[in-house]
Amino acid sequence: MTDFATHIRDVPDFPEPGVVFKDITPLLGHPEIFAEALDAMSAPYHHGQVDVVVGIEARGFIFGAPLARHFNAGFVPIRKPGKLPWQVSGQEYALEYGTDRLEAHIDAIHKGSRVLIVDDVLATGGTAAAAVDLVQKLGGDVIGFAVLIELGFLNGRSRLPNVDVHTVVHYGAD
Ligand code: AMP
Repeated sequence: MTDFATHIRDVPDFPEPGVVFKDITPLLGHPEIFAEALDAMSAPYHHGQVDVVVGIEARGFIFGAPLARHFNAGFVPIRKPGKLPWQVSGQEYALEYGTDRLEAHIDAIHKGSRVLIVDDVLATGGTAAAAVDLVQKLGGDVIGFAVLIELGFLNGRSRLPNVDVHTVVHYGAD
């Protein structure tokens, strides 16, 4: 079993003091490890149809697009406000201070589509929960949330009680 964590770099105090940023660029730059990471993220979802892979801006795009090809599914970007050019539906979510918002095109997901949401890191779960709400608002059926890294000590899973959360590299409380 590949130890993916050895290809993820901890960068203390980025982008602000107190945050340990999980830098995935060493993993992305290693072709075999990147491919294995994609395989590990997709593994639980082979038994059923995946119609759409949703990637959350920006690092969710890196994993989401190749996973869409892998499942022969469409790819839908969920983006920060003002980035998408056409009519959007949005979902606000709380940050430590203030709020943020994710947006998708209103016609991005057909009603009843089976949707796999993808991102790089599950931290507090606010981003993922907003993405789930947005996909459901657009009529999609969320079959899972696949993420490379879970910061378990932040308990993001508790924000996603009815979602199949699949993570590959888990960092606990230590
Ligand atoms: P959260 O909403 O708190 O679960 O944060 C998840 C989002 O923020 C993901 O899109 C991640 O890319 C990013 N993120 C949060 N914490 C980290 C971290 N320690 N290292 C890298 N990215 C992070």
